[in-house]
Amino acid sequence: MFLQVLRPNYSYESLYHIGPEDLKAKGLKGLIIDLDNTSLEHGGAFLSPEREAWFSSLLHSGIKICLVSNNTSVRAKNISDSLGVPYVSNAMKPFKRAFRKALEALDLPAHQVAGVGDQIFTDIWGGNRAGLITILVTPLGSREHWWTRMIRRVERPFRRSPSP
Ligand SMILES: [Mg+2]
Repeated sequence: MFLQVLRPNYSYESLYHIGPEDLKAKGLKGLIIDLDNTSLEHGGAFLSPEREAWFSSLLHSGIKICLVSNNTSVRAKNISDSLGVPYVSNAMKPFKRAFRKALEALDLPAHQVAGVGDQIFTDIWGGNRAGLITILVTPLGSREHWWTRMIRRVERPFRRSPSP
C-alpha cells in the first residue's frame, strides 16, 4: 500500500537514541544519515561536540556511515571529511539514486543499512523505496526552508508511528 512507504520502521527523539548495540542486534551494519535538521541545525556548518562524539562512537563500534544531503553546498563535504566518512550531496531524495550511491559507498546491502532523517517525504519515503530500514528523528531546529515548513503540515499524521 502506498502510505506504507511513508511510515518509518522506528521513530526517535534524536540521534542519541540510536546506539551501536541496538543497531547490531537488529542486524544493521551501516547508516545513511541526513544532514540538515538531523545531524546539525539547518544550514549549520559544524557538528556540535556532542553529535561529533555520537558519530565517533558509532564509527569506533564498526558501524559504517554515509551522509546524504539534498543540498549542493560544500558543507556536506567538510563535515564528512572531518568524520572521515563518505557523502552524497545533491541527493534529490526521495529518488533512489542517492541511496544506491550511498549503499555503494558503504559497500553494504540495503537490508543491513538504516536510513536516518527528519523528513517523511524525503528521508523516509526514499529510504523505504531503496529497501532500507528507516528511522525518523525529530527535527533539530525550527529554522527551515519555507517549503519544508509547508511539507511538515502534510507529514504530521505520518509522524505518529509506533516506536520500537
Ligand atoms: Mg533534513
